[in-house]
Amino acid sequence: MALVNEHFLKLPNNYLFADIAKKVNAFKAIHPKADVISLGIGDVTQPLCPAVTEAMHRAVDEMATTQGFRGYGPEQGYDFLREAILKNDFLPRGIHLDIDEIFVNDGAKSDTGNIQELIRWDNSIGVTDPIYPVYIDSNVMIGRAGILINGRWSNVVYMPCVAENGFVPRMPENSHVDVIYLCYPNNPTGMVISKEELRRWVNYALRNDILIFYDAAYEAYITDPKIPHSIYEIKGARKCAIEFHSYSKTAGFTGVRCGYTVVPKDLTAGTLDGKRVALNPLWNRRQSTKFNGTSYISQRAAEAIYTPEGKEQVRKTIDYYMHNAHTMLSRLRALGYEVYGGENAPYIWMKTPRSMEKGKQENASPSWRFFEELLYGAHVVCTPGVGFGPAGEGYVRFTAFGSREATEAALDRIEKWHK
Ligand SMILES: *Cc1c(COP(=O)(O)O)cnc(C)c1O
Repeated sequence: MALVNEHFLKLPNNYLFADIAKKVNAFKAIHPKADVISLGIGDVTQPLCPAVTEAMHRAVDEMATTQGFRGYGPEQGYDFLREAILKNDFLPRGIHLDIDEIFVNDGAKSDTGNIQELIRWDNSIGVTDPIYPVYIDSNVMIGRAGILINGRWSNVVYMPCVAENGFVPRMPENSHVDVIYLCYPNNPTGMVISKEELRRWVNYALRNDILIFYDAAYEAYITDPKIPHSIYEIKGARKCAIEFHSYSKTAGFTGVRCGYTVVPKDLTAGTLDGKRVALNPLWNRRQSTKFNGTSYISQRAAEAIYTPEGKEQVRKTIDYYMHNAHTMLSRLRALGYEVYGGENAPYIWMKTPRSMEKGKQENASPSWRFFEELLYGAHVVCTPGVGFGPAGEGYVRFTAFGSREATEAALDRIEKWHK
């Protein structure tokens, strides 16, 4: 008999965005004429830039010739892209990486989910809370997260990031962790980490022999020159951190699929008998076995982001989204809402009003209650913060990825509804 991996059964079967879709569809069934604006899901809306699509067309034409055809590529990615990554994302920040430390992938979701294969099943993990759900769920599936009790996994250490602590997570002192997931700029809160604070994390990890999995998917949205783009800007991070990058939010690659992971050669983890093992060769082995590379066309597309035209065009789209973010921040603030993020990230994290806390019997969650009231009152979709973790309760997330028109229209409606 084939026995199922029962860890899968521990996962709540409601996926956040499926739940949202269900509620939006229920609303639409009653109000078939209402036109609903979604500022909920974290997908981009603006088309790929010309530098990227031209590179893709060229790659397709190459593939149509006998000389230019490419079959299986290197599992780690083509050198043309890995070199462009080193030269553009790291060297200008004084970070010297080796080409073998870059692993091109089909997006950061795969690797942030797969990376936990490198550590023993009984290692314990710590996460900032709220958080991108992939980190925890991928650990649940392998049995590392324990069981779910009142919205918390028994073997996960949660580090709350809430308005009361300025969204700065406290390092775990009384609970043991082996691996910590950090994501900056943060999804869902849109908050960033200062260089000093990140240095404290790196030193903490080095002191306690902890691995950091650092998700930098939104690094391109940083405008403040004091905010670090990469954890390797901090001395010593090569010995304790793996970093994930994605072109999805940087250049609208959510449908193209390309990103990369950095696994420094200095990075090691322990064995039970006290030896140290380098993780870079292990990840290389893992990828060579389970991954067959990202398409040549996607990698040529990614390379084009680093050309002067590509950089300028990508910057324009990011500026477009950030203009939305700034408009949302100021107009929501003007209504008296408490809003965070949105300065160096395409997300606005908003505290739900006090009034959402009463009427506990019907819908105990202020996040969900505000979501529904906004949907029915203003026909605008946001994401309930509690879907990202227990400390997200009492918040909702708005994304800046809408079109200018949709964003402005949503704000007009929220203003009208608010009055
Ligand atoms: C969107 C996102 C990703 C990556 O997405 P891919 O499309 O798989 O590259 C990774 N981490 C966070 C926090 C994200 O929001």
